Amino acid sequence: MQTPLRRMRIPYTSPLPPPLIHPRSANTAPGAAAAVATFLASAPSPHLQPTPGTYKTISPQKTVLLTGAGISVASGLADYRGTAGTYTLNKTYRPIYYAEFTANHEARKRYWARSFLGWTTLHRSRPNATHAAIADLAELGFVSSVITQNVDSFHRAAHPHLSTLELHGYLRATVCLTCRTEYPRDQFQERLAALNPAWASFLEDALESDALETENPDERRAKGLRTNPDGDVDLPDAPYSTFRYPPCPHCLADPALKVEADADGAWAPYSEGGVLKPAVVMFGESIKPEVKSAAEHAVDEAGRILVLGSSLATYSAWRLVKRARDRGMPIGVLNLGGVRGEESFLEDVIGTGSRGETGVRASESTEKVLPMVVQRLRSEGKGSHS
Ligand SMILES: [Zn+2]
Repeated sequence: MQTPLRRMRIPYTSPLPPPLIHPRSANTAPGAAAAVATFLASAPSPHLQPTPGTYKTISPQKTVLLTGAGISVASGLADYRGTAGTYTLNKTYRPIYYAEFTANHEARKRYWARSFLGWTTLHRSRPNATHAAIADLAELGFVSSVITQNVDSFHRAAHPHLSTLELHGYLRATVCLTCRTEYPRDQFQERLAALNPAWASFLEDALESDALETENPDERRAKGLRTNPDGDVDLPDAPYSTFRYPPCPHCLADPALKVEADADGAWAPYSEGGVLKPAVVMFGESIKPEVKSAAEHAVDEAGRILVLGSSLATYSAWRLVKRARDRGMPIGVLNLGGVRGEESFLEDVIGTGSRGETGVRASESTEKVLPMVVQRLRSEGKGSHS
């Protein structure tokens, strides 16, 4: 039995094991690309178990992709645990927890102030070579769907026709904790700017100085600003308590609710509800049951799983790979650095002579390797549209 805590999104703090490499030739980017290409183009595994329940393995020849923060680093966003990751560089960084956000007005001010500063960078950043390669692989007929832990909406932008399940929600909207109405984050940004003119001019200056504009995380850090994977910015000693945020317009207009705003339209602390939250699954918050089962469905309808840029540190992602393993699906992992539980995921294939048919593990960057995989598969005439 799982405890309720284990179903929540929680940071994983134990050390990760050193990366395994399999097959041995996958220790360079071209070698990894060859192994991943073999993995994707192989016949379905004879060990694939039928799925219990109602789901059917609709596409045993296709691969479901599970992506994490590592694939968005090339778009200028930090990841959590990479060499320039938020947890690696900033030991004191602590993401906001759901319970804190829902209960504490001060915590919300701090969250929204940081989010206000980080939004422009996130909003201007674009999908990168990894996302483009995923679109190509889908076009070639190798991918059944994508499950992502990322909240940056890059997958939808890069491949709108390939099904993407956003396991941890998305930053492009806010959601009301009382009435569950969603609003575009863009419009919310304008409301935040109007309510916080001093912060808005600080942001303007920061944007003008290119501190937020640069794609180079080192330069950005040198200018004292850092965008975290959840789209916010670190600003030591900022007067967060001065920040103001608006209530849900729908709840504010409902006379039956005690949701109030001050003269400027900022959420009044004596309100009961009408609080807007980013439409992401915060740490300590449970994933919606329908999202959880859709993710399981996405795993069950594919014949193999390829993890891209994730250390599987969150339980929800780790569980999906375990599910794939329990079903006898070949597992591929392309991630710089260690991955939680990788010895057990790959124990059956490590040491075998496979060229990648039964499993791949490489510690290389996806934006380097995945376009090479596409090129290889195309030149070999593999795939349905080649
Ligand atoms: Zn509402």
